[in-house]
Amino acid sequence: MEGVGRVKHEECRPQVLDSVLKAVDARRDEMVELARELIRFPTTKGNEAEAQAFYAEKLKELGAEVESFEPDIEHLTHDPAFVTDRKSFEGSPVVAATLKGSGGGRSLILCGHMDVVDPGAAAWTHSPWDPVVKDGRVYGRGSVDMKGGVAAHYIAAKVIRDMGIELRGDLKILSTVDEECGSCGVLALIDRGYRADAAICTEPVGLKITIATTGSVWFKISVPGKAAHGGIAYSGVNSIYKSIPIIERIRALEEERRLRLFGSVPVYDGAPIAFCAGVNKIEGGVWPAIVPALTTLEGRVGLSPLEKVEDVKRELEDAVSATAKADPWLSLHAPEIEYYKSRWNSGCVEEAHPFVEALRRSFAQSEGRDGVMAGMFACSDSGTLITFGGTPAVDFGPGPQDMAHKTDEYVDIDDLVATSRVVAATILNWCGAADAGQTGL
Ligand SMILES: [Zn+2]
Repeated sequence: MEGVGRVKHEECRPQVLDSVLKAVDARRDEMVELARELIRFPTTKGNEAEAQAFYAEKLKELGAEVESFEPDIEHLTHDPAFVTDRKSFEGSPVVAATLKGSGGGRSLILCGHMDVVDPGAAAWTHSPWDPVVKDGRVYGRGSVDMKGGVAAHYIAAKVIRDMGIELRGDLKILSTVDEECGSCGVLALIDRGYRADAAICTEPVGLKITIATTGSVWFKISVPGKAAHGGIAYSGVNSIYKSIPIIERIRALEEERRLRLFGSVPVYDGAPIAFCAGVNKIEGGVWPAIVPALTTLEGRVGLSPLEKVEDVKRELEDAVSATAKADPWLSLHAPEIEYYKSRWNSGCVEEAHPFVEALRRSFAQSEGRDGVMAGMFACSDSGTLITFGGTPAVDFGPGPQDMAHKTDEYVDIDDLVATSRVVAATILNWCGAADAGQTGL
């Protein structure tokens, strides 16, 4: 068998690729059906177990080694990347499948998350858990973010298996949880040893080759004051007023960061502000006639793909503390900053990285046009895979990308098929086919 036992990264034979793409097209309905089956599981936080068990069985149909476990929160707490407001991962297992390659190829992770955000209080046209197919779309919570993407990459792997094509490199398929709250699911899988030469997260990025993902730090700043009757307000200290210079400082920080970071990751240069920072929630005061003793400011700072969470925390802390020091009251009663609920790691892969090149070529071969490179403004498991997993990870999946988390969320079925085609081509081109002759093509 030619090339086995040594690294050989030639492209997949055109006739093999062509047959695989045709086979993916032929499984359009199956892909839609799998997406619908996954959407029917209401996998909000803590409720992913049933869907993961169902999906683990599907992965076994690939002939893969499959394991599923609930992340150990005690163990993960020691990881610098860990943050979640969960008390445990009971009911939220992760699933991982491994298809061993024959050797001599590069390994690839296909990554998707099973958790979805709550459908919210707004009325949906159809139940969010009863997926309807209409006008070339599948509607339902999680359709685009990202059970559609999961179905698309699953079918890509299934087609390759069903055609008897043996891959040289290992193919790993991860189904994570907690992506919507800080990516602790993928962190647990990384901790278990799931790494690869590259990864694709089939997130809703509208078929753009998304080589960078922002991160985000959520903060809560408690600004102290001193209560007093409103009639003798001068005897107190108004915490709302004391918050104003801090709010203004955070606005200025966003602008300073915009100027400093512009051009550092060129895929973001078209955006007015690539990495937004802001105070987005304020609470303070108890009564119109009482001077407030405490005001809290909550918000987020977006991370550039080149920044670490710790760097951004320090920058925020320095800005708040310098502002406080300039104020007679706050210099003695320092505002407190806490980081809570969620944080996401950023990350990026260089445009010239061989995997980005392989994905671009695969896109061009599959879709007959050049792919568009982009940076993601939301956050994804890819940031954690890059930063803590040492795995170059690119987001590439269906659209529309602005439907994630929305009422009446939907995914375009044509995009599902295109995602599956490009992923299938990338698997072949990246992992390598051990002996394409086996297919009889
Ligand atoms: Zn997502």
